[in-house]
Amino acid sequence: MRLGNQQRSPILVLDRVVKEHAGNPPLRILHDVALTVSRGELLAIVGPSGSGKSTLLSLIGTLDRPTSGRIELEGHDLNALSDRKIAALRAHRIGFVFQQFFLLPGLTTIENVATGLLYTGETARRRRRRAVRALEDVGLAHRLEHRPGQLSGGEKQRVAIARALVGDPLLLLADEPTGALDTDAGQGVVDLLLELNAQGTTVVVITHDRDLAASFPRQVGLQDGRIAFDTYNDAYVMAPAQGRAP
Ligand code: ADP
Ligand code: MG
Repeated sequence: MRLGNQQRSPILVLDRVVKEHAGNPPLRILHDVALTVSRGELLAIVGPSGSGKSTLLSLIGTLDRPTSGRIELEGHDLNALSDRKIAALRAHRIGFVFQQFFLLPGLTTIENVATGLLYTGETARRRRRRAVRALEDVGLAHRLEHRPGQLSGGEKQRVAIARALVGDPLLLLADEPTGALDTDAGQGVVDLLLELNAQGTTVVVITHDRDLAASFPRQVGLQDGRIAFDTYNDAYVMAPAQGRAP
C-alpha cells in the first residue's frame, strides 16, 4: 500500500548526530548518525546489546541532547529550543513504551492510562473517558479497574501502550517492548503495534531481536554506535486495520 506524498513528509530527521559521555578521553557512544523517519512509518532499530539503541532512542525521544549534530522533530530544530519547550513538545508529541512497563502499582488500569494526559489540563472526567477509549483500542476494555499486579505481562504492556497513545502522539517509541514477555504475549504486543501503525501511528521499535526486526517494513541496524544498514522490506504487507480479538 502506497501513501500519498503528504503523509510521507519527514517527522524526524537526524543529521550527523554524535553522543559522547564525559571522560578522558570522552566515550563516544553514537558516531555521525543520520536517519530520516517519515509520517506513517514503522521501523525497527536493531543491534546487539551495547550498540547504542537506547541512547539513540533517548535522543529521538528528547530525553537527552546530542553532543553535536542536529535533530529535527516535526520541523523543529531541537538545538534551538529551551528545555521547557522541549519538555512540552515531548509531552504532546511522543509516546514511550519500555521493556519494564513502568506502571504505577497503586493505580488502576484506567488511572495509569489517564496519567498520560496530566499535562493537558483536561478535567479528570474527560481524562478517564479518553483512557477508556485508549484501553478499548488495545483490547483491554475488560480490565479497566484492575491494578498492575492483577495483570499478565502482555496485558501490562498493553496498558503501557494505551498510556503512550492516549494523548494521540505524533511518534510512538518502544524500547524492547517484548523483552520481558513470553513468545505469545510478545507476538500479541507486536501485532498491536502493527495494527496501530496500519491505523496511522508512526512507530519506532528498538530491539535486539533480528527476526522481529525482519518482520517490519524497515530495519535500521546499529553496530558500535554507527548505522550499519538501513533496509526496506518490499514484501511487507500492512497489517489489517481490524480483526484483532479483544
Ligand atoms: P543498547 O540499548 O544498544 O544495549 P545503550 O544505548 O544502552 O545500548 O548503550 C550503548 C553504550 O553506551 C554501552 O556501551 C553503554 O555502556 C554506554 N553507556 C550508556 N549510558 C552511559 C552513560 N551514562 N555513561 C557512560 N556510558 C554509557
Ligand atoms: Mg537498550
